[in-house]
Amino acid sequence: MSPITITVEQVARPGESRLPDLIEPIVGFRNWRIFRTGPAELSSPYLPVVWSEPVVRAECRRWRSPEDLLRDTHAAPHPDCGCGIRAYPTPTSDFSKVDYRAVSGIVTVWGRIEIERDEMRAELARVEALGLYRRWSRRQRDAVREVASTLGADLVDLHELDAAAGGYGAPPPPSLMTEAHAPGVRDRFAALFKSRVGEWKKPAKSS
Ligand SMILES: [Zn+2]
Repeated sequence: MSPITITVEQVARPGESRLPDLIEPIVGFRNWRIFRTGPAELSSPYLPVVWSEPVVRAECRRWRSPEDLLRDTHAAPHPDCGCGIRAYPTPTSDFSKVDYRAVSGIVTVWGRIEIERDEMRAELARVEALGLYRRWSRRQRDAVREVASTLGADLVDLHELDAAAGGYGAPPPPSLMTEAHAPGVRDRFAALFKSRVGEWKKPAKSS
């Protein structure tokens, strides 16, 4: 099955008035790891990609093998590729409990978004909040606080990520996740989705 693509437009920037048909940003959940060789850094969990800015833009990184070099490059996310910034419709808090460097949090996503049954792959994402787990070491807590401060993200209790998410936007409609592959859904939702971006900063190249 291939995912469907929707586009969430950036319709309001700071100083611009809200449009009457404005729909809330799409929120999702995801995980990172925290590394500290100097200042604490937020990294994608499975790739050495640092989230050094509040907003990151996806980039396809499928250029690691000789075969990949022969392929055409494409903008991320691509329906036939795994690229894009991953976000999930439900909290991923367990990751923080099993990996001592892990942190879970809330993101808003926009731009082109590939929607699959249990995940979204987005073109742009903003770190909105990071979840603090009370059983963490002081070192990890301090590192997460430092990263949140650097990125301007909020801190919430790990177990309250789900409840807090509503303050940043709306989840993708469940019908979109479950009917992602039904005919006609793409056009219907492409027209529906519009999103605001609170404060715009220059996107970092990362995914
Ligand atoms: Zn790709």
